[in-house]
Amino acid sequence: MDKKLYDLVNTQINKELYSAYLYLSFADYYKDEGLDGFANYFEIQAQEERDHALIFRKYLLENDEVPKLLAIDQPDKTFSNYLDPLNAALEHEKYVTSLINDIYAAALEAHDFRLQQFLKWFIDEQMEEEDNARDMITKMTLFGKDQHSLFELDKEYGSRAYSVPTPLAKA
Ligand code: MG
Repeated sequence: MDKKLYDLVNTQINKELYSAYLYLSFADYYKDEGLDGFANYFEIQAQEERDHALIFRKYLLENDEVPKLLAIDQPDKTFSNYLDPLNAALEHEKYVTSLINDIYAAALEAHDFRLQQFLKWFIDEQMEEEDNARDMITKMTLFGKDQHSLFELDKEYGSRAYSVPTPLAKA
């Protein structure tokens, strides 16, 4: 595998694990605020991000490469209201989209068609992640100031359940 592509994919393992860490810190914030449903949502989001890391790891291993696990940065965000983490989530997902795009662009340049094919799942996934984040911002903006509505919203996010993503399920 091309050295530059290896480095990008290997770094993405770290970026996804950082995402898991970041969302766990969001879950901690909501848990502390008594919004257990929002906490549940981000705990599951953290699991999904760990899965993303595992998918990139699996790709390297299946291509006869050994992942090099790097140090994970410390999430350092502080929040002053319920909307803050949701805005931060959208910003973060846009950043991750740009990372996936960068890997795809590099794979295109190197004529690595296998990597391009592999990344397609993540390209779709990022559209979904951004859409979900925007949806949460909209709902919080619309309903967050009414206590009853907030309670219902929290209940809705409390029902989110974990499922194994397709690329790992067919392992
Ligand atoms: Mg991810």
